[in-house]
Amino acid sequence: MADKETQILLVEDEPSLLAGLLLNLQLEGYRVTAAPNGALAVNHLKNGKFDLVILDLMLPDMNGMDILAQMRDRGDYTPVLILSARDEIETKVQGLSTGADDYLTKPFDVKELYARVQAILRRHNGAVNNVSFGDIKVFLDERRVEKNGREVHLTPLEYDLLVYFIKNPSIAFSREALLRNIWPTGTDATVRTVDNFIVTLRKKVDDHRKPRHFITVRGHGYRFNI
Ligand code: CA
Repeated sequence: MADKETQILLVEDEPSLLAGLLLNLQLEGYRVTAAPNGALAVNHLKNGKFDLVILDLMLPDMNGMDILAQMRDRGDYTPVLILSARDEIETKVQGLSTGADDYLTKPFDVKELYARVQAILRRHNGAVNNVSFGDIKVFLDERRVEKNGREVHLTPLEYDLLVYFIKNPSIAFSREALLRNIWPTGTDATVRTVDNFIVTLRKKVDDHRKPRHFITVRGHGYRFNI
């Protein structure tokens, strides 16, 4: 059974799917707010706090991808699971690089949806407090990083970038997406700034001559290997 306090915003315009998912998620113990269109979803997101957003892409009044981009733009990192009939690889990549946490293609088995919802919530709810890679240990609760048992000093933005990668391993992010998702809105940072931060992170928590964790994805951006 899910935590009773877990709040999910369910954005889906297809009435029977919305009703079915609403009922099933409630039976699993989640508190679910339903939004049958984009405007209502945006309204709920502005006025409520959610642990997870299940987001359909093709909505009557908006594209779900725009809702997601707006959330990340204003620094809302609520986990998002995209639900869509579009199974083209480009849409998946776009969704993930816009900051979605996962992507499920319709039609799907409701059991797979539960499994993915639980996995996302586990990742984001601090169930995992420490993460290790190479000789680095990250203490997420304490916003602290150690290398071979010695404290590594990171600036708040360096740390945020590191944790973003840790929470989204193996995904190739464009430099623009990283800029959008990590840096505050209105920053004068550019994609070159992102490059500089990666150089710094490689020096501090990787091997800057032979990076094993912060991998360059040519013509695109970066990917983190744990
Ligand atoms: Ca739809």
